[in-house]
Amino acid sequence: MDIKRTIKYEADRVPGFGREVMAVPGCEALEHCIQCGTCSGVCPLSIYMDYTPRQVMELVRSDFKNEVLQSHTIWLCASCYACTTECPRQIRITDIMYELKQRAIKEKVYPKRFPIPVLAEEFTKMVHDYGRISETWLVSKMYLRTNPVAAMGMAGLGMNLMKTGRFSLKQDKIERRSELARIMESVDQQNQKAQA
Ligand code: SF4
Ligand code: SF4
Repeated sequence: MDIKRTIKYEADRVPGFGREVMAVPGCEALEHCIQCGTCSGVCPLSIYMDYTPRQVMELVRSDFKNEVLQSHTIWLCASCYACTTECPRQIRITDIMYELKQRAIKEKVYPKRFPIPVLAEEFTKMVHDYGRISETWLVSKMYLRTNPVAAMGMAGLGMNLMKTGRFSLKQDKIERRSELARIMESVDQQNQKAQA
């Protein structure tokens, strides 16, 4: 993927965005980034990213909210933690990527028809609602939302897998889901407090 080299303007900034991200527990050290580029150098996926990890760090710190939340980079990050272990300023780059992904999902500004954010959203929703993942439904929902034509093309394969018992339409659920809902609510409240 080509690295974006478009000029950034003051008017594109969303003042306060960088501070908001740096206020999240684990993301504070971003303030001390020296733009050395070690993270981009060790990242196995940076050549496919539209912004390198180093660029994402600076865009966040400089309040370029829309650029980072709509970038492919945060979704291509494979959470290998190579950048985080090598950063000379102990910046938790991988965790910052997670924070950005969460914000992109919440604000629904991720790249359209890009499967990874849709998969992440459906995964979280399924855990929230049932406490378990049903791979069949998870993959089906992802395809239906991102590439319905491909989903229809796989109907035959799905039928064959169903006949052999390797594909089930049953949605697994845990018992006492109300307790899980209370835990999730409590975690959400703590996160909101931390970001307030
Ligand atoms: S390795 Fe750390 S200090 Fe260097 S550019 Fe990346 S985040 Fe900044
Ligand atoms: S955690 Fe993500 S950004 Fe960091 S090196 Fe791995 S893929 Fe690249």
